[in-house]
Amino acid sequence: MNDSVIPLVDARNALKIGGCSSIATTAEAVDTRGRRLRDLRISVTDRCNFRCIYCMPKTVFGRDYPFLQHKELLSFEEIARAARIFVSLGVSKIRLTGGEPLLRRDIERLIEMLAVIPGLELTLTTNGSLLTRKAQTLRDAGLQRVTVSLDALDDETFRKMNDVDYPVSQVLEGIAAAEAAGLMPIKINMVVKHGTNDHAILPMARHFRSTPSNPGHIVRFIEYMDVGSSNGWKLDEVLPSAKVVERISSEMPLLPIDPNYSGEVAERWRYADGSGEIGVISSVTQAFCSSCTRLRLSTDGSLYTCLFADRGHDLRSLLRSSQSDQEIGASLGSLWAKRTDNYSEQRSAATAAQRKIEMSYIGG
Ligand code: SAM
Ligand code: SF4
Ligand code: SF4
Repeated sequence: MNDSVIPLVDARNALKIGGCSSIATTAEAVDTRGRRLRDLRISVTDRCNFRCIYCMPKTVFGRDYPFLQHKELLSFEEIARAARIFVSLGVSKIRLTGGEPLLRRDIERLIEMLAVIPGLELTLTTNGSLLTRKAQTLRDAGLQRVTVSLDALDDETFRKMNDVDYPVSQVLEGIAAAEAAGLMPIKINMVVKHGTNDHAILPMARHFRSTPSNPGHIVRFIEYMDVGSSNGWKLDEVLPSAKVVERISSEMPLLPIDPNYSGEVAERWRYADGSGEIGVISSVTQAFCSSCTRLRLSTDGSLYTCLFADRGHDLRSLLRSSQSDQEIGASLGSLWAKRTDNYSEQRSAATAAQRKIEMSYIGG
């Protein structure tokens, strides 16, 4: 194994989920700060064909990295069962993610199983590399929308960010295929790393804004975060979202707009001339923990109540026990009820250096 490999296997030792004495009919889960459980992010693989420097740097995620073995993964049937239980607790949106979710074999079969759950919004986040091939089958399976990550429009900068040789043009083709398949509206995620790709902010904004002949797409500029323990995060590599808005606005004036719903992660801005909108996600400079309704399910079935957690809770054992859906639902409801997480409100140099679980494992 590479010397710099962080022994994540230790961090993967999930805590047992305690039972719940009252098996009341499942009701909407609310945590200690009054936050409801609304969004579930499901990581379907911890593997990826990119090695983004802020997520899976090659020095750590090298050839010998101990990725999960197939037998450790939750099966599609287990994921779909968990999803149904979570919907009974209030979840109304599921995002499939990873790792690169389109690398999970037969992902369309999972989408078919989730798409029939009533009242669920079903989306997926991808690096776009397999989208040209898969957009139509994903749509046919019942996927509603996609978010595509893209950190620059020029190959040189794109490569500096993802550390593989993959042309931007193929991601753009994937976005066009998603559009043609009706996976709309498409959002484009750009992680901004100050000094590496911040010069790409304006080209990205220009490229994706709408024109009379093209509806455009919503780019969301994301502050580089101290997720995981492998990316060597430093505060001076974060470009505050306020600066992103300032830079874009100096060329293409922006006006703030109301969120689509309470607790929306991205702060929305529209172009004053009517050519669409952008979003900024400011986890570092403007914590949004007070309205965080997200829960993450790792590829091997551990639950994380915060993106910056160091330990998960073992749902896989519950799913493989003789417990009924109602019993599992009651335990999950009480797990959420005890939730206190607010990492971004407490972030400091010390917390940034703490051991945290990797984003590729629990899902972005
Ligand atoms: N592989 C897919 C992709 O890249 O879209 C899905 C998984 S990825 C972990 C999900 C999102 O997390 C991506 O938009 C990615 O850019 C973002 N992300 C990963 N590491 C990040 C970091 N350190 N700071 C901010 N965003 C990050
Ligand atoms: Fe892969 Fe997505 Fe992480 Fe990049 S951000 S390494 S594409 S999982
Ligand atoms: Fe939610 Fe944790 Fe992020 Fe705060 S730091 S918004 S609690 S995931």
